[in-house]
Amino acid sequence: MKLATFCYKEQRSIGIVNTNRNEISRFDINMEYAKNGVQYILDLMSNGIDLPPIAEIIPLNQVTLEAPFPRPRRNIFCAGKNYLDHVKEVAKSGLGSGPTSGNDAPAYPIIFTKVPESVIGANRKILRHAGLTSHLDYEAELAVVIGKEGRGIRREEAMDYVWGYTIINDVSARDLQKKHQQWLIAKSLDTFCPMGPWVVSKDELDGNNTAIKCWVNGELRQNSSTAQFIFDIPRLIESLSAGITLYPGDIIATGTPSGVGMGFNPPRFLNSGDTVKIEIAGIGTLENIVE
Ligand code: MG
Repeated sequence: MKLATFCYKEQRSIGIVNTNRNEISRFDINMEYAKNGVQYILDLMSNGIDLPPIAEIIPLNQVTLEAPFPRPRRNIFCAGKNYLDHVKEVAKSGLGSGPTSGNDAPAYPIIFTKVPESVIGANRKILRHAGLTSHLDYEAELAVVIGKEGRGIRREEAMDYVWGYTIINDVSARDLQKKHQQWLIAKSLDTFCPMGPWVVSKDELDGNNTAIKCWVNGELRQNSSTAQFIFDIPRLIESLSAGITLYPGDIIATGTPSGVGMGFNPPRFLNSGDTVKIEIAGIGTLENIVE
């Protein structure tokens, strides 16, 4: 099942996407329930409540997609340095920062967050923030969506707590990342969390083994698989939930493979007008242009 949040006839709505027929089945719910996007449907499901009836079927090209969670309930959890080839490109660039700046895989997951207000949907503009950063960078990431509340989740049962997946571009200001050492500011500027195009239930793909690609202006920059994770999804959930209760609608971005702008020599940061397109097999594509 693919759930999308979208704008149709100037109202926010939620629906089930059929990518074969390029249609979306809009749920018959009032505007107030649609306010938090697919969060509403996840809450119904986690409480064992039947889904609302379908109001109408709309061609996909007649709606404007929004981020599935237009304003997540709390910060987005993000794994840093979760692909070894990315750890190495960061070390080589000399632009790395934070707790580990060497070539080795971290011993434990590195977790930071992005504020909910940084989220934008597919095809929305990433603000350039000129004057604040000159090192604007992209990071293609698989994001896990939690579907069931839990704390102290063991890795063997962790996938039971996953509802599904979406795509996130963990947009980063490398100069701010280095300057502030902690990553929150550098990764939470307005529009720094493109998300979408929808969430896909976990039965439709293997999140621990799926292809992830990123193009900038049509040039393939990142080309990997989540099978390369240092810490797979169960390990991330186990670490996060050890003392923090996870709730339906929590989002965990799983880190990015090599091929980010800072990894090139010289670095290839984003400029105005650049288009970043991320594709994850089983989900779809997320494309955004830099203002
Ligand atoms: Mg990242």
